Amino acid sequence: MTLTPREVIERLKALQELDRQIATFDWELSGGPKAVEGFARAVAAADAKIAQLEERTKLLRAQAKLRENEAKTSEAKVERLNEQARAVKTNREFTAIRSEIANAKIELGKMEEEILKIMEAVATQESLTAAAREERAKEQKKLDAERAKVDAALSGLRKSRDDHAARRPAATKEIPSETLASYERVQKARGNAVVPIEHDFCSGCMERLTRNDVFAVQNASRIVVCKSCGRILHA
Ligand SMILES: [Zn+2]
Repeated sequence: MTLTPREVIERLKALQELDRQIATFDWELSGGPKAVEGFARAVAAADAKIAQLEERTKLLRAQAKLRENEAKTSEAKVERLNEQARAVKTNREFTAIRSEIANAKIELGKMEEEILKIMEAVATQESLTAAAREERAKEQKKLDAERAKVDAALSGLRKSRDDHAARRPAATKEIPSETLASYERVQKARGNAVVPIEHDFCSGCMERLTRNDVFAVQNASRIVVCKSCGRILHA
């Protein structure tokens, strides 16, 4: 049984609506990964912050190690001077070495103070790192929750999309193959392939139609295609 031009137009309009729904589902599905992007960025930022804090802690520890070695050298010097002091013969020598020992001890004290300060800075860095890790865990939790939410929504969308796509073969079945091919081509190129006329114009491209074509569209006496844009016209 062949469809009348009016019936073909009705089928094409229904097909276009179906295709529009499928396209909307596809668009929503493609937005899924974007919905979690912000959350993933927050986790990455937290990772970067932790890395920065750890790097600074490492540098401070290396600095402390260096000062500790210097302090050891300084301690050895004090010990050596103490031994020398026991062996001196004159008062003058003794006074000189005592003053040298005092200076070495002051130097050692300064180093130890500096080491303490560095270790305090290390402790601060470590507590900042712990806080940053907690913050990261929170962000990760948010990301996981959002991802689960999006995944659930996507699986619902995917099902709807598949259901709609499954209806397409039946929706195209009785449409003459040449008309269907023309519909598909224009739909792909222009986003819509079946449009109403507006007075004497194609509403897709605003091309003026012949009186003959306008009459045919109004009476659905044949399928009329816009000569300018290729869209199929209806009243
Ligand atoms: Zn047109």
